[in-house]
Amino acid sequence: MTNALTTIDALDAAGLATGAKRELLERVVERFRLRITPEMAGVASGGVAAQFVPDARELVTRPEELTDPIGDRRFSPAPGLTHRYADRVILAVTQACEVYCRFCFRRETVGAAGVLPEADFLQALDYIARTPAIREVILTGGDPLSLSPRRLESVLARLEAVPHVESLRIHSRVPVVAPARMDGAMLAALDRDKPVHLVIHTNHPDEMTPAAQAALRALSRAGVAMFSQSVLLRGVNDDADVLEALFRGLIRNRVKPYYLHHCDLAEGTSHFRTTIAEGRALMAELKRRLSGLAMPTYVLDIPGGAGKVGLMGAAAEEGPDGWVVTDRHGGRHLYQDPERP
Ligand code: SF4
Repeated sequence: MTNALTTIDALDAAGLATGAKRELLERVVERFRLRITPEMAGVASGGVAAQFVPDARELVTRPEELTDPIGDRRFSPAPGLTHRYADRVILAVTQACEVYCRFCFRRETVGAAGVLPEADFLQALDYIARTPAIREVILTGGDPLSLSPRRLESVLARLEAVPHVESLRIHSRVPVVAPARMDGAMLAALDRDKPVHLVIHTNHPDEMTPAAQAALRALSRAGVAMFSQSVLLRGVNDDADVLEALFRGLIRNRVKPYYLHHCDLAEGTSHFRTTIAEGRALMAELKRRLSGLAMPTYVLDIPGGAGKVGLMGAAAEEGPDGWVVTDRHGGRHLYQDPERP
């Protein structure tokens, strides 16, 4: 956690300032935290930089944007816990991350607090233990792999001790953005009796540094099954060549591309959002180039909390007023591509 860039001065010194007025950038980072690891600063040009370097356009909140874009708080039976789908829960074990991404859908909460307090964790654990329908616990945050190995081990051990919990999943950006954290202690913490699925968030092929590749190899050898999730981001990866390189790179590094998320309606992120038609055209082009194994599923988290919907199938229809998406219960929701800022 040393030498991360956390101030505009540090960005300037690293040659990563955006050229926007200093006063505007200071206002941006007062509202949405700044943190770039040395690994990401080292490859921060073009698409990689845009994900982490503050931009004055983040001060623009459009009417459709939301503080809780995917409705986590609507489905929270205990602090840190979201129970949206019957057979699984999401547990935010920390609000801290190794990097703060400018497009994050939890940008209003990440970094605001640290590790989930033990009393809150016990409350969440109690809910999981008395809800037999829950088969999978998904650790998120923040970034769960920013926890100390000792804390992570303690959390995982108590979750896997619940008899009806069959598997554990961790969503993390750490193996790519801070690969040095994936040391022997962290690998040992991840070595569980029950399956651990690691979903790695990565958006650009340049993030796959030699150190990140080594971390993924070590995770694979430790028996951790790895998948990826990426966010489709204008100016970062909204290009078939970039996405092809990203997904091929993941396969080469033992990671199955899993989800490509349409960019959520988080506040101050409209400059990152593509239209759904643009996303579908990119997926159609990738399908011509890549094997099924290398193809992720292009999804939208329906704003407000109705869950995910695939954007390439019949659940998404383009109509005169925008896209109509059908959730898993048959509910229909209108999604309008935001106007360009
Ligand atoms: S939760 Fe994930 S996407 Fe959000 S700031 Fe942290 S690392 Fe980035």
